[in-house]
Amino acid sequence: MTEAIRQKRNELAADGSWSDGSAENQGRWDAVVSRDRTQDGLFVYAVISTRIYCRPGCGSRPPHRKNVRFFPDGTEARKYGFRACKRCLPDDTPDWASRTMFVSRMCRLIETSSRTPTLALLAKSIGYSPFHSHRMFLEVTGITPRAYAVSVRTAALMTSLSATEKVTDAIHGDRAVSASQFYADMSRGLGMAPATFVKGGKGMTIHYATAASNIGRVLVGATDRGVCAILIGDDPEVLERDLRDRFPAAAIIEAGTELATTITQVVSLIHEPETATHLPLDIRGTAFQCRVWHALREVRPGETIAYSQLAERIGNPSASRAVANACGENPLAVAVPCHRVVRSDGTLGGYRWGVERKKSLLDRERRDNVARVLSPQT
Ligand SMILES: [Zn+2]
Repeated sequence: MTEAIRQKRNELAADGSWSDGSAENQGRWDAVVSRDRTQDGLFVYAVISTRIYCRPGCGSRPPHRKNVRFFPDGTEARKYGFRACKRCLPDDTPDWASRTMFVSRMCRLIETSSRTPTLALLAKSIGYSPFHSHRMFLEVTGITPRAYAVSVRTAALMTSLSATEKVTDAIHGDRAVSASQFYADMSRGLGMAPATFVKGGKGMTIHYATAASNIGRVLVGATDRGVCAILIGDDPEVLERDLRDRFPAAAIIEAGTELATTITQVVSLIHEPETATHLPLDIRGTAFQCRVWHALREVRPGETIAYSQLAERIGNPSASRAVANACGENPLAVAVPCHRVVRSDGTLGGYRWGVERKKSLLDRERRDNVARVLSPQT
């Protein structure tokens, strides 16, 4: 510890403004205890015993109140010798859940506007700079806002494009659009050429590994952009075949130890969905599927949504059946929580990885929610 930091520490002990029992600090403490992700970016908390600082929504075990100091941001905390938590990455603001939410908001604005909104307008709608808004959008969806706007306009075409259909069939289904225009729009909208998409991920390299979880074997597939497949079942060989069927043209390689951290993150996502860490995803699908999957990611653990509600939420109320199909085709079990979609009458409905697993996932999330509400807040 340098002398400067030692001196800062002493000042900190003397100056209680960021740690005293004021109402403001009590509010901050409540946010820490309830892991309130909506407070992420508003302050950080530092723990004297571990010398680590975290965002309020961090999934780490809550510290003792007496060891906690609050700071406006990581820069302040570092002045006192605290280090950033490796789990919640408090300096990468906003966190993944918020970014996904902001991006979904921008998507909806694009979908509901008659003309493509400007970047400035999109940025204003979420309260970030155009630069950050653009970067966030690209990071979450893999495409730019402009490309997404193009893909929304051609959404009707895309929904008719399944992995088994030929691109030309899809084109001929709608003669109002010229073939070259269609290819150009598709290429921009998906972030890759339609032929690549139809051929099942040609050019992609996927490393995969499997692990045990309390709902069965889990196969995790990842590209250099993020996790592209989370498949659940009983038999590792069946899971591997499923992966190859979904990405028939991709190079599929069994991973060594390089996926160990990712596998751990995925298993903890299954076991403790509420405390899940940042997990970069490489979501690939038609624009319609991506809209459904992004909307699903906003359904919180312990909550459920009906297919019809989900269809409404993506601005396509008559598309319940297509929404159900998109849920069934979801390659990212639990990370894209299609287990939280139920029938309108409240019954479970189907699940690609077995209704028993759906039931056990939902039961656990409801139990955890009740436990959180009942547990004392200090
Ligand atoms: Zn943390």
